[in-house]
Amino acid sequence: MDIAVIGTGYVGLVSGVCFAEVGNNVICVDHDEQKIEKLQNLISPIYEPGIEQLMEKNLNAGRLAFTSDLAQAISQSELIIIAVGTPSLPNGEANLTYIEQAAMEIGKAMNSYKIIATKSTVPVGTNEHIQMIIAMNTMQSFDVVSIPEFLREGSAINDTLHPDRIVLGIENPSLAAPLTELHRSFTDQIFVTSIRSAEMIKYASNAFLATKISFINEISNICEKVGADVTEVAKGMGQDKRIGSSFLSAGIGYGGSCFPKDTDALIQIAGNVDYEFQLLKSVVEVNKSQRYKVITKLEASLGPLSGKSVGIWGLSFKPNTDDIRYAPSIEIVETLIRAGARLKLYDPIAMEKFRERINHPAIQWCENALEAATGANAICLLTDWEEFKAVPLSQLIFVMEQPILIDGRNVFSKEQVQGTGLEYYSVGRPDLI
Ligand code: NAD
Repeated sequence: MDIAVIGTGYVGLVSGVCFAEVGNNVICVDHDEQKIEKLQNLISPIYEPGIEQLMEKNLNAGRLAFTSDLAQAISQSELIIIAVGTPSLPNGEANLTYIEQAAMEIGKAMNSYKIIATKSTVPVGTNEHIQMIIAMNTMQSFDVVSIPEFLREGSAINDTLHPDRIVLGIENPSLAAPLTELHRSFTDQIFVTSIRSAEMIKYASNAFLATKISFINEISNICEKVGADVTEVAKGMGQDKRIGSSFLSAGIGYGGSCFPKDTDALIQIAGNVDYEFQLLKSVVEVNKSQRYKVITKLEASLGPLSGKSVGIWGLSFKPNTDDIRYAPSIEIVETLIRAGARLKLYDPIAMEKFRERINHPAIQWCENALEAATGANAICLLTDWEEFKAVPLSQLIFVMEQPILIDGRNVFSKEQVQGTGLEYYSVGRPDLI
């Protein structure tokens, strides 16, 4: 198929490259000309393992191109995929400005019948709104479908090439066969629904995963008080097939560009039809407070933080991505700065994006985990990058001012910590002092 993908962010770029990888002709469009120039030179504007190799392969095979000329991309494509951002408005609702702009531009550029597929996460009813905007800008016939995206940053290529399922929200039944055929290169698990159900499936899925995370975080808080170990509890729970083991890792809460904004948006979607989503409101509240556990533990072991040196391991909202949107690290770092601490920050990939967001004289930018630990009164591990698991813990006692490690992601086992001389605090597990 000839496909245009609008938006070359985490979703659009990966989807475009993967559609090319399975044999389609794909043209990726972005209105950010700097991004397009980078992409044309085979430099990915996002960090995603394996993306540049796949870009090069498919560009060389003539199946992939990048442009900022939206009209040209639309005119030569049968399927137009919308993958622009839908960030939060201050009231939590999804900001549809980019979607509306893209719909208008698509309508203006259409030269023949097109299928327009929305991959961006949009509130229920938005695809009807998109349909209306396009219709106001073209005389051509077209169909709008909803194909929500479920990929995870950090494993986005594998998730796209081998998804658990594809959801196709379709109103025109004649599109089920060609769109099923298009996605069969990825999986046979294709679920055709109404557009409104497809839109809801995406929000409900993210809200459910966020609920699992906040649930286990609350269990971890209770574990700390009753002397149980949340890692053992989660393992015992997860062996029950009805529960499943994924998304039961206690820590400092979820972040990223999806869960925080999608939970807020679903609360708003419900509120707009006079339904108070009480459970999800609690999930969000629990998540907001969980990150401050790190600060509480720091204060409990160090006393007042003013003038103390704190090493931070990890800034991205999760490993294998440079994405810091809604990362717990942001509020933790801001709170520590306000408390007068001096900070030594290190992340394998996300330092540049973090520096664009927060730059303060109290921050020292470090080259590696050991440098961030050197001279520190404590280390806080905020992202479970593989690299941190390989740090020789027994060396820390020789470089740190005080050997305190606060593991916000339960990366280390009791066996790894015992005998290292570290004072070790984690989440929902007994302290090792
Ligand atoms: P992003 O911000 O990384 O990328 C969006 C891109 O769209 C940007 O490059 C921007 O320049 C471009 N853009 C915006 N308006 C445009 C226009 N009119 N024409 C051309 N380009 C335009 O966003 P993302 O993280 O890729 O997310 C995209 C959507 O997918 C969101 O709705 C998000 O909720 C959803 N989603 C994201 C993920 C994820 O892990 N990031 C996973 C599933 C779903």
